[in-house]
This record gives sequence, C-alpha cells and structure tokens, in this order.
Amino acid sequence: MTDLTALKAALDGIEMEDNPRLVKQKSRDFFWYSPILKEQLDHVSGELLVTPRTEAEVIRVLKACFELGVPVTPRGSGTGNYGQAMPLSGGVVLSLSAMNAVKEIAPGRVLVEAGALLSKIDIATRAHSGQELRLHPSTYKTSTAAGFVAGGSGGVGSIRWGGLRDLGNVLKLRIVTMEAEPQIIELTGEEVQKAAHAYGTNGIITEVELPLTAAYDWQDVLIGFDNFEAAARFGDALGNQDGMLLKEIAPIAAPVPHDYFLKHQRFIRRDQSVVIVIVAPHSMDALMAFTRRHKGEVLFRTDTATAEEKRGLPPAYELAWNHTTLLGLRVDPTITYLQVLYPFPNQIERAMKMVKIFGDEVPAHLEFVRFDGNITCFGLPIVRYTTPGRLEEIIRIHEDNGCPIFNPHRYTLEEGGMKQTDEVQLAFKRQADPKGLLNPGKMIGWENPDFDFSSQTTYLFPGLKAAG
Ligand SMILES: Cc1cc2nc3c(=O)[nH]c(=O)nc-3n(C[C@H](O)[C@H](O)[C@H](O)COP(=O)(O)OP(=O)(O)OC[C@H]3O[C@@H](n4cnc5c(N)ncnc54)[C@H](O)[C@@H]3O)c2cc1C
Repeated sequence: MTDLTALKAALDGIEMEDNPRLVKQKSRDFFWYSPILKEQLDHVSGELLVTPRTEAEVIRVLKACFELGVPVTPRGSGTGNYGQAMPLSGGVVLSLSAMNAVKEIAPGRVLVEAGALLSKIDIATRAHSGQELRLHPSTYKTSTAAGFVAGGSGGVGSIRWGGLRDLGNVLKLRIVTMEAEPQIIELTGEEVQKAAHAYGTNGIITEVELPLTAAYDWQDVLIGFDNFEAAARFGDALGNQDGMLLKEIAPIAAPVPHDYFLKHQRFIRRDQSVVIVIVAPHSMDALMAFTRRHKGEVLFRTDTATAEEKRGLPPAYELAWNHTTLLGLRVDPTITYLQVLYPFPNQIERAMKMVKIFGDEVPAHLEFVRFDGNITCFGLPIVRYTTPGRLEEIIRIHEDNGCPIFNPHRYTLEEGGMKQTDEVQLAFKRQADPKGLLNPGKMIGWENPDFDFSSQTTYLFPGLKAAG
C-alpha cells in the first residue's frame, strides 16, 4: 500500500488527483477489446494520478516515488489495447498529457514533448513547412507521440515507411530514469530500441524526435470486390506498384464492411469485400486505372463525393487498423480480434488458407505494409468469440500454419510479441529502473527470469493476482 500522505507532500505543487473514480478512469485503456484481459484487468486501478507540466516535475515525481518505493505507470492517452498503460501494482499513474509542446520543426524532422497528440503535431508541421509524420496509428486524433512509440507498432503510412521498429522511424528519445537521482538519457540510432515498444517499463520518455515527409491532401477510396481473394490480391498488387503514392491499403472481408462501417454502409453491398485505400491526389488517376485493370468497383472516393455524401463520415483511417474492430464492437460487443503476420512471400496463400479454415468465424482484415523491404501484410481479423479455449485453438492453428500471432489477449511485452525477452530492453531496465518500479508486471524477463516461454502457460503477474 502506498504512503499517499508522504507522496503527496513530496509532490506538493504538481497537479495531482486522488478521487478513486477519476484515478480508475485514467488507469484504463482499451484492454476490454479482449474478453480475456477484460476479466483479468477490470479491477485494476492506480492510487494517484499525477500530471507533470515539465521535465523537472517528472524528475521530482520519479525521485519521490523511488524513495518511497511507489510504482509508476506512464500514460499518454490510454488508447493501447492490451492493458499496456494499466497500473497492475497500483501506485502512480503518470499522465504525460500536459507535456504536449511541439518544440522544433526542421526539414525532415520534428521534436515534440511526450504528450503531443499526433494529429496536433501534423497541424503544426503542415503549417510550418508542408510536412507531416510518416506514420500514425488509426488513433491519430487521440494518441500521443510517446504512447505511440512506447506502446504501438505502426499503421497508416506503414505501406510506404514500414513500422516503428525500423531504424530511422524514431530519431531520438529523451528518457528520465527511475533512480535515487533520476538521470536524463538521450537515445539515438540503434539505442532507440532500448526504450521503443517497451511499454514504459524502463524509463519515462519526455521528448520524441520523429522524421517527417511531404504532406499531401490525402484522399480516401473504398473499392469493392465480389470475393475476398480478389480484394486481397488487389491489395498485394497495389502495394507493389512503384509509381503511386499510397498511405494505406486494407482489404476487409464481407460482411464486415457493410455490417460494421455504419456511416459508409449505404455505399457497400453486404456481400462485398472492400479495400480501403488512402492515396495522394496526384496518384488518383493511376489508382483508378489500376482498379479498372483488376475489375474493382469504386464505391466511394472523397475527391468526387458531394458535400452531402461526405457529411458525418469518419476519415478512412478510422475504418482501418484497430478501428475496424472498434466499429465492430459497437455493433456486436461479443466479437474480438487477433494480430497476425502473414510472412512474405506467401502472404496471400497463408491468409487465404486461414479464410478457408475459419470462414465467417474469423472474417479477414489485412493491412499491407512494407516489412524488411518487402510488401506483405499483417492481419487484424475479427474473431466471433465463443470461449477462451476456442480462441487459443484459433491462435494455435494460425501458428501451426506459419502465421505468427502477436497475441492481443496478453498484457506482457513478451507474450504480446516475440515470445522471448528483449535482452537489450531488459539490460536497460536494470540500469534505468533498478527497483523495478516502472509499469510493473509487463516485462516477464524482469519479473520472472526463469519463465518458460515454451510451456504454453500464460504468465500471471503475482502483484495482479494479489489485487484481484
Ligand atoms: C481504435 C484503436 C486503434 C488503434 N490503431 C493502432 C494502429 O493503427 N497502430 C498502432 O500501432 N496501434 C494502434 N492502436 C494502439 C494505440 O492506439 C497506439 O499504440 C497509440 O499510439 C498509443 O498511444 P497513447 O498515447 O494512447 O498511449 P497509451 O495507451 O497511454 O500508452 C501506451 C504505452 O506506452 C507507455 N507510455 C505512454 N507514455 C509514455 C512515456 N511518456 N514514456 C514511457 N512510456 C510511455 C504506456 O505506459 C503504455 O505502456 C489502436 C488502439 C485503438 C483503441
């Protein structure tokens, strides 16, 4: 139990909230996408929400928490969907939302504070010099720069630029460590990997430098196909077109687009699989020509739609990535989803094999990306959920068929990722968080070095068990 009185005294002058209802609200993210995590994490709450305005205040918070042994879980906007930002051991929820300045814009790069919203960064860089971020999650409007780097992986723009894991897609991270005397460390180049996608377990990011590219007046296009395989093959072929500038290619199987994209429903027949495309205006004619070659049906395009047709429609990126599942959950709260990689060069064959095995139990949703220099696809298929056992079976069948799963029903870094501890991140945690107070329970390699990842058992953080 945290000595809140001593902590509050030490943090005097920094914005704090201890109303349990409000603290619990800010202790949650989109963990409830998963019926498994919903059950495990629903009760989780921090004890104190602290909102620093400056890096100096972050240092004060970490110093006090280190001294008192209080866990600290950083938070951007809480849009992660595997409980990344949930404080499994209670303690402080450290909201970086008030540190949101865009500090410097230069050709090809922008330096921002941790809590800057991605969409706000683009407003500033567009106005400054016609530049924008290379990639963003579909939570563009709500998610923060540091939250994306620490908890996300890629998204809109990944068809051109790859993912956050690729060297060059995060230029610099400025980190505050959790020590008696917190240090400031700047990570660049290879070193960025120490704290990127580490869920805030080994340092608090206070600044992020990201690369920029030329901004365009991107246009949304929905293209219909009579069967999913044609949609998937179109997406794959389109991704391999060298002359078109595209930001997003996502084939989604019928009846998901019709049934879940309620605002676009009037444009889509129920039996149509749809490819969501975001294209630069100068590539639109080429896209139309390519669509005709593949006998796709253009269902909707923002550049020719009337103001009346466009009224109230979300941008196409809010139909894609994890937004597809969100729209589905609004129609049918019993569904859930998976995250799959269909490795190059057999991505279409593997995706189609899963479609044949599962049919409408697991409607397909592909996201084409550049991955290690090749065009391939991730999958975010909807799962018509029945039981935990069947979900596990669906995962196993994918893996047995060469389709690795990044399990979105686990809250640890390892189980949601490569099923092994990232030794670089673990070593950095030993240096930057020697007491293990940052976002406890998320890095198995720290909590239980002997955990056997081949054992098929799910890791259960003892601190969480005690609280449950
Ligand atoms: C509808 C929906 C769509 C999504 N689409 C995508 C997508 O397209 N691509 C994608 O990659 N993800 C996606 N996500 C996941 C999530 O939105 C992104 O990863 C997002 O960028 C997280 O940003 P956030 O500010 O909400 O971070 P949070 O959820 O608040 O935090 C994410 C993680 O980062 C840590 N963290 C936050 N701030 C800091 C900091 N300053 N220092 C250290 N650690 C920190 C947190 O502790 C947590 O572990 C989606 C989620 C939803 C619900």
